[in-house]
Amino acid sequence: MTRPFSSLSQLQSQLKDRSISATELTQLYLDRIEQLNPILNCYITVDEEHALERARAADQQLARGSGGPLTGLPISQKDIFCIKDTTTTAGSKMLANFRPPYSATCSTKLEQAGAITLGKTNMDEFAMGSSNETSFFGPVKNPWDLLRIPGGSSGGSAAAVAAGLCAASTGTDTGGSIRQPAAMCGLTGLKPTYGRISRWGMIAFASSLDQAGPMTRTAQDAALLLEHMAGYDPRDATSLDEPIPKYSQELSQPLSGLKIGVCRQFFSEGLDNAVETVIREAFKIFEQLGATLVDIELPNTPLSVSAYYVIAPAECSANLSRYDGVRFGHRCSDPKDLQDLYQRSRGEGFGNEVKKRILVGTFALSAGYYDAFYRRAQQVRRLIKNDFVEAFDHVDLIIGPTAPTPAFKIGEKVDNPVDMYLQDIFTISANLAGLPAMSIPAGQVEGLPVGLQLIGNYLQEGTLLRAGHQFQQATDWHQLTPDIEL
Ligand code: GLN
Repeated sequence: MTRPFSSLSQLQSQLKDRSISATELTQLYLDRIEQLNPILNCYITVDEEHALERARAADQQLARGSGGPLTGLPISQKDIFCIKDTTTTAGSKMLANFRPPYSATCSTKLEQAGAITLGKTNMDEFAMGSSNETSFFGPVKNPWDLLRIPGGSSGGSAAAVAAGLCAASTGTDTGGSIRQPAAMCGLTGLKPTYGRISRWGMIAFASSLDQAGPMTRTAQDAALLLEHMAGYDPRDATSLDEPIPKYSQELSQPLSGLKIGVCRQFFSEGLDNAVETVIREAFKIFEQLGATLVDIELPNTPLSVSAYYVIAPAECSANLSRYDGVRFGHRCSDPKDLQDLYQRSRGEGFGNEVKKRILVGTFALSAGYYDAFYRRAQQVRRLIKNDFVEAFDHVDLIIGPTAPTPAFKIGEKVDNPVDMYLQDIFTISANLAGLPAMSIPAGQVEGLPVGLQLIGNYLQEGTLLRAGHQFQQATDWHQLTPDIEL
């Protein structure tokens, strides 16, 4: 019964040698979803019919020896990616009945490469959160401990992959939402360079920070998915027109000569001691693999959470103004007048975290406060970016912990927003600077996975994936699976 926990590359060869068919594989995951989703709540929508139809088509292609690089591989997609005619909610009541007339570029690209979408995964409302507790569709359980959160906002994707309810998934990361849930569920999660993957058709939270990426069992799988998610898209003005390297063919290039920066600011107060021990142990593996560790400073990174909680709400207040109950989104019943329509539609459609951020963002952008908050936060953002530019003159990668603690209990931090926001203290700076960053499983603390973060220079996803892959050749943390069975 290793199949639900097999990597994409293992499944790829099993499909190719016909030891399993795409239909059997798809059915296997659909059965697990039926049995385990009521416990985990990681899927919002499952499209069984569509998945099986695509699986049958995949089998025909495989039999002919044709098909794309991902043909027959069943994946899930975060419910923030629009998929034509498929309910796409972004975890919100506001979009509970939204069926987009188009698909997100990166979802289309994955399907064109042959991947089969099983369904859409649960997430924090509009990707705002670190625990999946802000979803209108209820919290997701961490498969490693059902009393704990899976991380957020891509917690549904993380739980689905970790529990073997799909072979891989997609996520989005605005401040850590791919990396932190990957860390909490024992997965590999990659946030690429800003602009590497098109944002077209991805429901916007904070447009200057949002970036899609793969959530997988291995770095090798992340390389495979990234090759098919990345690329220039004329429909996204911030999309990068850069060649896409063959990431999966460069994974074995030796790490000797690689300089890895260890940043003092990532070992700050608030970092759990046991997590720190795991991370420092992992450093030794990189040394054994031939890399050299160098101490570095990123002096402005401690300001990243404060800057983020001005910039992200400011952008979200603008992006979410479109949900007015008129053009699309939830509409209240029997409005008295236009004002009442707006107020009640938005009041009923959005949850508390989203409302709080719209209020904060509107305030930060208002005349008289713009300079004191928004402009200031942008200036801090530049300083954070400059720190990285300076650091990458001396090193190829920067490593440290992904999150300060392992997965916490459901409900534990809901009344303590600052503590919740500090979950992303090590991840946010990469979003502010637009840099690629990845989390890989590096150990466990009391049976819960711990993630190690690697941050790379612009467009150096290949270096991240290579380092991650070789770490995974030398360790087996990524092969551990939670004890959740039918
Ligand atoms: N946890 C952060 C927030 O709540 C980041 C979310 C994300 O990356 N989408 O905003």
